Amino acid sequence: MPKMIAMVVPKGGAKLQRVEREVPRPGAKELLIRVQACGVCHSDTVTVEGLMPGIAYPRVPGHEAIGAVEAIGANVEGWKPGDRAGVGWFGGSCGYCDRCRRHEAFACENVHAVTGVTRDGGYATHMLADVSAAAHIPDDMDDVESAPLLCAGVTTFNALRHGGARAGDLVAILGVGGLGHLAVQFAARQGFRTVAVNRGRDKEAMIRSLGAHDYVDSTTGDPAEALRRLGSARVILATVTSAEAMQSVVGGLGPNGTMMVIGAVATLPVNPLDMIARRSAVRGWYSGVATDSEDTLRFCQLHHISPMNEIYPFEEAQAAYDRMKSGKARFRVVLKMT
Ligand SMILES: [Zn+2]
Ligand SMILES: [Zn+2]
Repeated sequence: MPKMIAMVVPKGGAKLQRVEREVPRPGAKELLIRVQACGVCHSDTVTVEGLMPGIAYPRVPGHEAIGAVEAIGANVEGWKPGDRAGVGWFGGSCGYCDRCRRHEAFACENVHAVTGVTRDGGYATHMLADVSAAAHIPDDMDDVESAPLLCAGVTTFNALRHGGARAGDLVAILGVGGLGHLAVQFAARQGFRTVAVNRGRDKEAMIRSLGAHDYVDSTTGDPAEALRRLGSARVILATVTSAEAMQSVVGGLGPNGTMMVIGAVATLPVNPLDMIARRSAVRGWYSGVATDSEDTLRFCQLHHISPMNEIYPFEEAQAAYDRMKSGKARFRVVLKMT
């Protein structure tokens, strides 16, 4: 039997381990993908650190995977061996439940799969994916360069296009790390007046070069006040994982403004009086389904948007993961399989 290599989490909180396994056969409605690259995302902590009850270990993390289809299971339409495929956080959907039929497949009633969490992900030479979770990858997009678009990319792209801002509106991106440096590029190309809000000024020149029209240093004064001075935000995209940072900017929303939260924080206190007065909202956003990823990839192609990546050989997944966790990566960490 042909073998594959996976970097597995033996149990929550343990170090990643290299294991050899038999290459699995795709079941019904599954694709076997030979993975070429997989991004390392902050949400991989869920699996690596065991933050969600009920994860079955050993588990292969990774939900920014790109590769080529090597085999297809029964009842798969629209895919053939050799096709390029990408898989993100969305692990698939049934297609027939009420939510799927009403274009809410991310909340499918029957399939509750998360790539790299409830099923094995892309820190491996091969992975199985539910065909409903697979995104087609345009021919001329590089695997390693594009992998982070399958989570960091689609999450920011999709939240921005659903936040309610229209061309010319002021949109603030809170945090300019792995998510934020993509969000700034998307916001500017989606036609918004784009303001980056971040601690310190060391990233200002770089983030302006990516398209930010204004920059607010949140360490020198009240960032909400700074946003109000610029005209108040129609949308604030909160990419950070600090509730305190989110609280400090939410007052920068204008009337009917929405703070789109994609950074997972446990508790976020907000002031209802303030929200009532402005009719403002705080809203969570789920990254996206496979077609959202395809939209993201095409948009990136059209506007020459790409993440800045640090590349690691995939068997150094632990070092790559530690680098991501350090918060010092510029900006996404990607595992390369060959
Ligand atoms: Zn992710
Ligand atoms: Zn469904």
